[in-house]
Amino acid sequence: MQLHSKLPNVGTTIFTIMSALAREHNAINLSQGFPDFECSPKLLELANKYMTTGFNQYAPMQGVSPLRERISEIMNTCYNSHYHPDSEITITAGATYGIYTCIAAFINKGDEVIVFEPAYDCYVPAIEVHGGVPVICKLKFPDFNIDWKEAEAKITSKTRMIIINSPQNPCGSVLNENDLKTLEKLVEGKNIIVVSDEVYEHMAFDGAPHQSASRFKNLKQQSIIISSFGKTVHTTGWKIGYAAAPAELMIEFRKIHQFLVFAVNHPLQMALAEYLSDKSTYLELKHFYQRKRDYFVKLIKNSRFEILNCSGTYFQLLSYKKISDEADTQMAIRLTKENKLASVPLSVFYKDKTDNKLLRFCFAKKEETLEKAAEIICRI
Ligand code: PMP
Ligand code: GLN
Repeated sequence: MQLHSKLPNVGTTIFTIMSALAREHNAINLSQGFPDFECSPKLLELANKYMTTGFNQYAPMQGVSPLRERISEIMNTCYNSHYHPDSEITITAGATYGIYTCIAAFINKGDEVIVFEPAYDCYVPAIEVHGGVPVICKLKFPDFNIDWKEAEAKITSKTRMIIINSPQNPCGSVLNENDLKTLEKLVEGKNIIVVSDEVYEHMAFDGAPHQSASRFKNLKQQSIIISSFGKTVHTTGWKIGYAAAPAELMIEFRKIHQFLVFAVNHPLQMALAEYLSDKSTYLELKHFYQRKRDYFVKLIKNSRFEILNCSGTYFQLLSYKKISDEADTQMAIRLTKENKLASVPLSVFYKDKTDNKLLRFCFAKKEETLEKAAEIICRI
């Protein structure tokens, strides 16, 4: 049989590879981003309650009403931005799925999509599957800010979409108000949709508020906000997230959504809706993770690794340029096999495999895990 691969150059994701390698070598796994602690027992109780009280058949296509209402409340609380629960919010099977659905809904063959690299790994393949052309702008090393002049220069009559991500995975950088205002001006009056990947929305540190695209009146009209409860309530395995966008964009989004997954896990949507009525569940998250970041950084500050700035997410970048000049992929593999500590090399997030000698470490871990990892880091 002759297969015509839609993604001939794509292999297995780095997260799968590094987590498997960590398991194989019994290494501490700070590679793939997920907590090594449990979510709240209250949330598990609620999940159980809804599973045992008759919520086990299909949920409505757009998601259950209590959860869409809750998301609307959260966006009002955090961003002073109103989204109508019925026409402007859809529950998705995680953020990866939400991003894919945006691209499937709006990208046609030959359309250009601006992507900032290093970029989360699901953007470029999804664009290519739909015949779109990723147009890459590199974030400025070492602060990983956006060069808006470069972005502007790369906009053409074919540009249909710009994907932004703040707080940013893998860099841990955040966009500020000026960034969003610049973007707002850049797309104003143009036929360009902004997909704003905000899965780490409740994890912006040091008092800087998360600048959601939903905060900016004009930008909001052209934006689809994507988020994920996996990050917010420590349940990456549940794969439930949402998309929020003006109704005319949401109509097109749902046309694809209804045939991709149709509906998302019913009892867990109900559980999340009730759990998130307590605002501290999301408002406290940035303090929780900032403490973890600070603890991890304190433990490794005397190591030979250089600690880069982390303003959000649960990822810390470390530079090993004073330790070794080997390729970052080699370094990550060697550390996993020999030192029993798994991380993610940054070059995999660039189309051209730019290697700045950086590794990404996930600090969404128990203190004892961070202590063990730090001990290894300090020995290298
Ligand atoms: N976007 C970014 C930036 C992420 O880091 C992740 C997952 N860590 C996702 C999207 C995907 O989220 P989900 O697991 O809900 O699909
Ligand atoms: N988003 C997580 C990370 O960046 C992993 C998600 C996945 O395994 N696809 O590590």
